[in-house]
Amino acid sequence: MNQPEDHEHSRNNQHEVEKLGSKMKQVTEEPNCDDDKRDIYDGVFEFHTSSLSRSCSPQKGDKLRIILLMQSTTLLQELVDAYDGDVARLKSDLDTFVLQREPMTPKVDRSGQPVVVELSDVSKSYKLGKSHVQALDNVSLTIHEGEMVALVGASGSGKSTLLQLIGGLDKPSHGSVVVDGVNLQDMHDGQLSKYRGQKIGFVFQSFYLQPFLNVRDNVEVPAMFARTKRPARHARAQEIARAVGLEERLKHYGKELSGGQIQRTAIARALINQPKILLADEPTGNLDQTNAQAIFDLFTKARDEFGATVIVVTHDENLAAKMDRSIRLSDGKVIA
Ligand code: ADP
Ligand code: MG
Repeated sequence: MNQPEDHEHSRNNQHEVEKLGSKMKQVTEEPNCDDDKRDIYDGVFEFHTSSLSRSCSPQKGDKLRIILLMQSTTLLQELVDAYDGDVARLKSDLDTFVLQREPMTPKVDRSGQPVVVELSDVSKSYKLGKSHVQALDNVSLTIHEGEMVALVGASGSGKSTLLQLIGGLDKPSHGSVVVDGVNLQDMHDGQLSKYRGQKIGFVFQSFYLQPFLNVRDNVEVPAMFARTKRPARHARAQEIARAVGLEERLKHYGKELSGGQIQRTAIARALINQPKILLADEPTGNLDQTNAQAIFDLFTKARDEFGATVIVVTHDENLAAKMDRSIRLSDGKVIA
């Protein structure tokens, strides 16, 4: 490359970083601890990309390092890409930025959006030997398009049952579940299975990947079931892999991936059929705060870039607080 081009190149990069920099919430400093936080970025970075660790409080004489609080985990990758992988230069540029503390992304009121999930007087009881367990007791609720809703409540309060009913994995004993204008009660098994394939993306707590399939094939499985043609499937897998920061890992197998990458693969798989609704059952249950934040970022991205409505069962109060609202269950009833 000759000199003027070089110069032009670095100016463009600088512009990219400025743009991205404005999206960052803050730069702050933290003592040198919790090295495992870097894991989800494959160790490329020397600074952290998470919220402040509560376990660390700065001590006099601690070596401090820069932390970036990012709104999106893949943003950082974009940043590095904009620097052609030159992390040293990126860091030195970042050091020169004065970034302001910004409030969290404001919550958007979506109550004017079309209703996408409506439960009316839903009860679900399971037979257990001679007795019945009332998993859900007369639940009515409405969720609007584009909402990110947390389902919270003690263990056994009916959260998973509720998710299964919305996802068409089970039917209520009583009441109606209407999703995207269709009453699931009216569907037979074949229709329900099609409904799940087309409209729902599931993310479970344990991220199970088929060990004999690579990342791309794992992600494409639901699209194969939906009979999406190969070129469209590949294109979509590529797009989603990029969105979740897995583009470089498409040919890899589960055993070659970090925990964070496996989670991202599972989320990519849930998104491959462009589901109307993303259902996640304690997706961050086994994760530290950094990885939990990364998952939350991906859910936000699923909503903002792919138009999904997101419903997440979680014990994580931090995560719940970041969602548009929480639905609280207790003994099978909605209490808030
Ligand atoms: P949560 O996800 O909030 O922990 P669940 O929806 O899994 O709660 O369970 C609600 C209640 O229903 C619990 O008492 C649970 O034991 C019971 N339950 C859930 N699934 C079944 C089942 N398949 N058979 C019998 N009881 C069940
Ligand atoms: Mg559960």
